[in-house]
Amino acid sequence: MNAEGIAVFSERKNQILVAGEGAGSISCDQPSLAGAVSQRACVFCGARVVLYPIADAIHIVHGPIGCAAYTWDIRGALSSGPELHRLSFSTDMQEKEVIFGGEKKLEAALRELIAKYQPKGAFVYSTCVAGVIGDDIEGVCKKVEKDVSIPVIAVKSEGFKGNKRAGYSAACQALDRLVGTGDTTGISPLSINILGDFNLAGEIWLIREYYEKMGLQVVANITGDGRIDDIRKSHGAALNVVQCSGATMELARYMKEKHGVPHLRVSYFGIEDMAESLYAVARHFQDIDHQVMERAKKLVAEELKELVPEMRALKKRLQGKTAAVYVGGAFKAFSLIKAFRHLGMRVTLVGSQTGTEADYREIQETCDPGTVIVDDTNPLELGAFLKNNDVDILVGGVKERPIAYKLGLGFCDHNHERKLALEGFLGMRNFAREVAATVESPIWRLVPRRIGRTTAGTPLSTDFVQPPVLAPATKEA
Ligand code: SF4
Repeated sequence: MNAEGIAVFSERKNQILVAGEGAGSISCDQPSLAGAVSQRACVFCGARVVLYPIADAIHIVHGPIGCAAYTWDIRGALSSGPELHRLSFSTDMQEKEVIFGGEKKLEAALRELIAKYQPKGAFVYSTCVAGVIGDDIEGVCKKVEKDVSIPVIAVKSEGFKGNKRAGYSAACQALDRLVGTGDTTGISPLSINILGDFNLAGEIWLIREYYEKMGLQVVANITGDGRIDDIRKSHGAALNVVQCSGATMELARYMKEKHGVPHLRVSYFGIEDMAESLYAVARHFQDIDHQVMERAKKLVAEELKELVPEMRALKKRLQGKTAAVYVGGAFKAFSLIKAFRHLGMRVTLVGSQTGTEADYREIQETCDPGTVIVDDTNPLELGAFLKNNDVDILVGGVKERPIAYKLGLGFCDHNHERKLALEGFLGMRNFAREVAATVESPIWRLVPRRIGRTTAGTPLSTDFVQPPVLAPATKEA
C-alpha cells in the first residue's frame, strides 16, 4: 500500500510504518493524541466489552447516561440462559450528584436492582465523572455486599486514566476477585477454561463443541455466555486457553501466579490458527490422554473435507483483490492476514487500537513487504489510506463501517455487532462467503471514482496452498 502523500499528525509519525522498510519498530500502547479523534474506545468501554457477556450479573454504569448509552448492548454476545447483560443500568449522574457526590444514588440503585433481578453478581463501572468527583465506588460495593449474598464488584474503569487496554486490565482485576471463590469438586484433570471469547453470534458454542469432541471438560467461559458461579470455580481447571492478545491475558497471568493454572494463547480465526489451537491444547493433555491428539486430528480432517474445495472455488474468484484490516486487538489481524491469503487476496493495510510492540512485530513477520501498519489511527488518516490505495474491502468494527461506506468500499464487520459466526472452520467459510459477496457486489461499480476500474492489487498464485500446520507438531517440537 502506498503511504506517501497521506497527511499524518507529526506526533503520530512513529505510529505508522511500512513492513520491510526502515527501523521496524512502531510506537504504540500510549494515550491517544489529543484532538486526533482516535478510533479507539475509552478505558470504561474497554472494561465494559470484556465483562458485558457475563449474563447472570447486573452491570451498573456509575456515571452520566451517555456512558451507558454508548455501551448499551455493546456486543452481540449471546446467552444460552439468562440475559441480564443485555439490560443497561446507569445511575444517570446529574448536576446534583456531580456537586454533592453520587454514592447514595449508587447504593440505592444497587439495592433496588439486586432485589428486583436476583442476579448472581453485580459489576459497578466507574466513569470519568465518577472518577473526577472521587466517589468511593469500592466502599459502596463493600457496604452493599455485606447485606446481600452475591459478589458486588467495583470496576475501576475511569475513562480518562489511560487507553482501552487499561480497561481490559480493570476488567481482569474485577474477574480476579471472583476466581478462587467457588467449589472445584468434580472437575476433571482434562479440563479447560475458554478465555477471551465473547460468544458473538454464538461462536463460543462452536468452540466448546470442538473441545468437548476432543474429550475435554469446559469449566468456564470467560466471558462469552459467562456465568458467575463458573468463573468462581474456574481455578479448578487444568488449563486456560486464551484468545485475544490483550483482553484477558492479564487474568490468565493472575491465575497462573495465584492458582498455578497454566495458559496457552490461541486464535480461532482462519484455518491454520483454528487447527493449531486444537492441536496445541491436545499436546498439552496428550501425556494424560493418549487419544486426545487423534481426536483433534479427526475433527480437523472432518471439518476441512468440505471447507477446502469451497475455499479453492472462492479463491479463483477473488484472486488479486486487496483488503485493509483495522481491528481492536492485534491477534485478529494475524489470523486475518492468513485468511485473506487463502482467498488469494493481499492485505495492504493492517492496524489495531491496542496492539503492543510484540503484536506489531508479529504483524510485520506475517504480512507482505510494503504493507502499511498503523497504530491507533483516526478517521481522516484511515480514510486517506483506503482512498489512495483503493482497497476492495475493509475489515473493522462499528466505527470503521461508515468510513468504508462513505468511500464506496466493501466492509466486513469483524467486531461486536456481527450476527454471523466467524470463528472456527464454519466461521472461515462464513467469512470467505461474506468477503466474496461483498467484494463482488455490483454496487461498487457505481462509485464515481471507481468507474472504469477492473481490479485492484497484484495477482497472486491461483493455486490453493494446503496449510502447512495442519499436520500437528509433536509436543517436543
Ligand atoms: S467514561 Fe468518560 S470517555 Fe468513557 S464514555 Fe464515559 S465520559 Fe466518555
